[in-house]
Amino acid sequence: MFEKDYYQILGVSETASDKEIKRAFHRLARKYHPDKNKSADAEKMFKEMNEAYQVLSDSKKREEYDRFRKYGPRAFAGGGKPGGVEIDFGGFNPGGFGSADFDFSDIFSSVFGGAPRQSRRKRRVQRGFNIKAIIEIQFETALKGGKIPFKITRQATCETCKGSGSATGEKKVCPQCNGRGVVQLAQGGFALNRPCPVCGGEGSIIENPCKTCNSKGFVNKTQTVEVNIPKGINSGQKIRLSGLGNAGENGAPAGDLILEVHLLEHPVFTRKGRDIHSTISIDMIEAALGTKKMIETVDGNVELKIPSGTQPGIKLRLRGKGVETTDIQGDHYITVQVNIPKHLTDNQRELLKKFKSN
Ligand code: ZN
Ligand code: ZN
Repeated sequence: MFEKDYYQILGVSETASDKEIKRAFHRLARKYHPDKNKSADAEKMFKEMNEAYQVLSDSKKREEYDRFRKYGPRAFAGGGKPGGVEIDFGGFNPGGFGSADFDFSDIFSSVFGGAPRQSRRKRRVQRGFNIKAIIEIQFETALKGGKIPFKITRQATCETCKGSGSATGEKKVCPQCNGRGVVQLAQGGFALNRPCPVCGGEGSIIENPCKTCNSKGFVNKTQTVEVNIPKGINSGQKIRLSGLGNAGENGAPAGDLILEVHLLEHPVFTRKGRDIHSTISIDMIEAALGTKKMIETVDGNVELKIPSGTQPGIKLRLRGKGVETTDIQGDHYITVQVNIPKHLTDNQRELLKKFKSN
């Protein structure tokens, strides 16, 4: 009673999962593709399996098809019956499922003429993706600027096939979608676009796949690039290396490599923007009387005058001793810690008592 059994064509059971159906289709597609298989039956088989896959890979269409398969066209003749489901096929005769002359491919090619070409163009010039990574920079390197090597693994255009994925550099227009990359399915009066199952939406197929890249058009490549570190760069800032991201599809330009700067810690200095911060400790006598201290700065050692009566936690500034960038120079702030002695000699205790009573 049933002319075309899609389950049988794909060699799967009625209860096959979407995954099993897909796998079966891909296996058959490889076997019967007219470009690979020159036998007389191959083309017919290829057409049929495509048809079967179009229906069984779509849960809604598969459900309808299952009903047809079980009950025949009458399953859809419930329009007049109370509670019957009426499906408007928009002139598309559902009875065709069971008839010998029903041919999905014919319907496809007549309807697909209007498929938008733009979506294909857009995809073709798809630029490669950017790669984002963290670059760790020594504190001093960030101050002075310079060049440092950075190791990156990226998708680089395959040199064997120049990114085409084809060993001969040639591609053939997909016979299923005529190069459009999409096929259309008439359903319930709507025309639905979906990626072509034969070419995966590419619009073309590769007859001689490139062996170097497995016809992907790119290979993973680990390379060391030289990164220019601008003077004064800080954590969180980004360095962009154009064209060092992943390769684009079909020879489209590569994306960029975007490095986010992460400054490594320094034992003495911390950075806040263009300013440098550090801490010194003095004792309470020095704080009270005032003193002079040698301070390590990014610009060498500098003598800092600590005034008498300096309070704990106060910040003293060395102007212009911070980070130098192209336009401006930051300052260096020194936080003063005052140490209070924990152990006093008898003599010191007497002196302090005397000091207090004065
Ligand atoms: Zn290649
Ligand atoms: Zn196609």
